Amino acid sequence: MKECPVCAADVPEYQFEHPNGARIRCTQCGTFRLMERPAQILGERRIYSANYAIVPDKRLSAALRQRAERGEETIVDDLASIYADYDPPGDLPTALGRVLQHIARKAPTGHRFVPLIGRRDAGVIGADDHGMFDHTLGEATKLGFVERKALDEAAYRLTMAGWQHLREFDVMERKRLLEVADRVTSALYDLELRDGYSATALADAVGLDESEIARALRYMEKQGWVTVERVFASTMPALATLTKEGLRHAEQVLNGPTAANAPQPNVVYNVSGPNARINIGSHDASVNVVDLDSNTFFAEIERVVAEAVPDRSTREDIVRAVREFRGATDPKTKAQRLGELLEVAANITTVLQPFLPALMQLVAQKQL
Ligand SMILES: [Zn+2]
Repeated sequence: MKECPVCAADVPEYQFEHPNGARIRCTQCGTFRLMERPAQILGERRIYSANYAIVPDKRLSAALRQRAERGEETIVDDLASIYADYDPPGDLPTALGRVLQHIARKAPTGHRFVPLIGRRDAGVIGADDHGMFDHTLGEATKLGFVERKALDEAAYRLTMAGWQHLREFDVMERKRLLEVADRVTSALYDLELRDGYSATALADAVGLDESEIARALRYMEKQGWVTVERVFASTMPALATLTKEGLRHAEQVLNGPTAANAPQPNVVYNVSGPNARINIGSHDASVNVVDLDSNTFFAEIERVVAEAVPDRSTREDIVRAVREFRGATDPKTKAQRLGELLEVAANITTVLQPFLPALMQLVAQKQL
């Protein structure tokens, strides 16, 4: 046995084979390939406790495990980029959703119990500390989202309530991500106009946890809205600049959809039964609830999108995403398709807003 160069856990024998590095199979970090140069850096940076035990790099270990959970065998070449990509959970709901995601991935049919031990598995949710992981698992049990196999056996599976929560979490997480991305976009826009970018100014302007802002920036980078310069082992980038695309998105966020075409914001759509009649009624002075059958409901979405989205290719993308959502049969695919729909409709979230409660409702339903 050898020690894992990252977390110091016992791992099976490994050897460096120049120039391909060494393949390390660690129960805590997952399987990864370590190149010679970063191995040397890790060795130089190693810290020892008072009794000469190696102090594990928990953050790097959690970052590697998180990637392994996504099915990636990381090649550890540039340590800085791995630290930069690290995405710790910002709050309990996020941590909770990730625990449920992990169990669902390991046991997709839902019958099998999945072993989970905080000391070994904290990284599955991106936590670098098992205290947070144990707390999250405790909450998940208390809320009735997971059941434990036996008191003396730390293995878990999702309950019906857990599956339901997971579907809602996937959709909400995507929605939240898009909202935060909008906030970061307008804050960047504002900073560029005034004092210029600084990580602290951005965090202050957005007023959210740094890890959440960093996640939104990664998303914005993928969308081509921003270019980012990162620094070693820091959550926030040293520099973030809006691209031309990003500037256009910022202006859309700041101005809202074209006022003349925007649907009334105080309408909430509701889908009831296959043959429900259309019923427009006012619950109070400010909110109109519209009950539609599903055919009319989807036709209504397409109508509103056609009116509110001037750009033809965006409009077609959104309509395609709506139809794909509608075509999905199982809740998991539906949740995924709704996420995709929200993504292509990122610039017109206010237009889709009135439909969201009904769309979420449809995710949970057996068939459309
Ligand atoms: Zn390890």
